[in-house]
Amino acid sequence: MIVVMKPGATKQQLDHIVERIEQLGLRSQVIVGTDRTVVAALGEKRDGAKQALETGDGVEKVVPILAPYKMASTEVKPEPTCVEVRGLRVGAGRLGIIAGPCSVESREQILAIADIVKEAGAAGLRGGAFKPRTSPYSFQGLKEKGLELLALARERTGLAIVTEVMAPEHVPMVAKYADVLQVGARNMQNYPLLEAAGESGLAVLLKRGPSATMDEFLLAAEYILKTGNYRVMLCERGIRTFEDHTRFTLPLASVPYLHQTTHLPVVVDPSHGTGKASLVAPMAVAAIASGADGLIVEIHPDPEKALSDGFQALTPGAFRKMMSECKKVAAALGRY
Ligand code: PEP
Ligand code: MN
Repeated sequence: MIVVMKPGATKQQLDHIVERIEQLGLRSQVIVGTDRTVVAALGEKRDGAKQALETGDGVEKVVPILAPYKMASTEVKPEPTCVEVRGLRVGAGRLGIIAGPCSVESREQILAIADIVKEAGAAGLRGGAFKPRTSPYSFQGLKEKGLELLALARERTGLAIVTEVMAPEHVPMVAKYADVLQVGARNMQNYPLLEAAGESGLAVLLKRGPSATMDEFLLAAEYILKTGNYRVMLCERGIRTFEDHTRFTLPLASVPYLHQTTHLPVVVDPSHGTGKASLVAPMAVAAIASGADGLIVEIHPDPEKALSDGFQALTPGAFRKMMSECKKVAAALGRY
């Protein structure tokens, strides 16, 4: 349920409603909006709870939340959320670009890429230190050494570091170095990981599982939001279909759909979404045209030699060109 307070409701009236919600055995979350304050009452349905809250001083109305996800829903918070980390701003009209290698490979590689990312005008540096690889024989990442190199790249450029965390027990270590914790597609429904990532207090980039529906995706985000951490970015990275001309199928309709159902910002990953370097820039531009609040793109100084996902990595030149095209489309649509 959402308790909508009257425009001039006092702090005492708000505190009283929060107390009543908790007495009813529900969790309360106060959301201060531009026009008015609402309080979400979350938990199992309780008989009589709606009536009990409706009579409270300062309450305008009590409405049920129809969506299965609650905190993620536009029913609870109609205004779009902007997630801000260092210079990276994603959502509510701000377009944030994150770029970098699939994997951190060496000091030279990550520092060179960080300079390219910064120069091209992106604000986030991606790079996997813990890699979820299909084969256990493939390169698994530099682990903590990779995280140290990312932190070094941040020191040099000021870029926000986005890196994947694969297990709940790794969260404290990854959080020591990262600005944004990436929860990968394979882990979208790893609930202990979602909770641990949420509890870290860092911003979280949650990738859509390749077979997850939108409701499942938003309910996964809800696990993070439920910890009280609202800095969640959703990432459409492509789904598994019968189609085999691309690595995954990138369904861009999910961008406007998500904007209609959630206030959380939506990032698109055209690299994993297509799996082909030549398709990345056109889909990046299309993602922005469809309303994406951000992009996460894989680049590499020498894609042929990349230790992972080289086939979908943009060269520095191709990345610069993509950035200039994206900026034009964003400007035409009034996003910056
Ligand atoms: C990645 O970003 O390198 C990655 C492994 O992505 P996903 O989880 O979307 O497959
Ligand atoms: Mn990758």
